[in-house]
Amino acid sequence: MSATTLAGWLPESGMITVLTGAGISTDSGIPDFRGPQGVWTKDPTAEAMSTIGTYLADPEVRRRAWRSRRDHAAWDAEPNAAHAALVDLERAGRLRALITQNIDGLHQRAGSGESAVIEIHGTMREAECLSCGLRTPMPEVLARVDAGEEDPPCPDCGGIQKSATISFGQALKEDVLDAALRAARSCGLFLAVGTSLTVQPAAGLCLEAVETGARLVIVNAEPTPYDELADAVLRRPIGETLPRLVALALGSAP
Ligand SMILES: [Zn+2]
Repeated sequence: MSATTLAGWLPESGMITVLTGAGISTDSGIPDFRGPQGVWTKDPTAEAMSTIGTYLADPEVRRRAWRSRRDHAAWDAEPNAAHAALVDLERAGRLRALITQNIDGLHQRAGSGESAVIEIHGTMREAECLSCGLRTPMPEVLARVDAGEEDPPCPDCGGIQKSATISFGQALKEDVLDAALRAARSCGLFLAVGTSLTVQPAAGLCLEAVETGARLVIVNAEPTPYDELADAVLRRPIGETLPRLVALALGSAP
């Protein structure tokens, strides 16, 4: 679909719920897990660190996971033009919610409101105790790693800590999922950006939105299982495409 056609209805598409995946952060230098250049493709042991069973069972996996958190590209990454465009959308009053599969916190760093962002896979910016649930800012725990604790236990109960992200084998937080579902069911346009739409329940949010009458626009380099359902599919670079889409939606495109 051409930009001209989109320009016809984007300004009247009402409140917009956005779903973002790894593709929006690759321009910021954060590698995609599953893509050809992905972390798992290059280092299969990375998957063991992201699986709750092996994480709990194997101290060596945990030690490696803490080093990997300390060295994560996100600590030095800066938000890009696509993150900034979604801040514009929110400030213009057109953002219903910003659901993200990303754990890097770049939306908030770009200026998206804490209350607007729904992190369905959690965040790497906090650590969580798997026994008592205590949350600690990640930099505090990483400082202990730097000081020589290879697998720092919970300061309250001595339990095993992990980044506050959803690992394989862990359930999503119910209140977070509820908020995402509500946002998908109460928008005029659902905009999926940089996600392969293959991981549930994130992918199913598209269907929820369409079934409640929303339009669907997909911006992703590769085809997705929901392309046929979409009103528009844009397989162009996200850093250029998203600012353009937001400008069209806000009627501020040149
Ligand atoms: Zn604890």
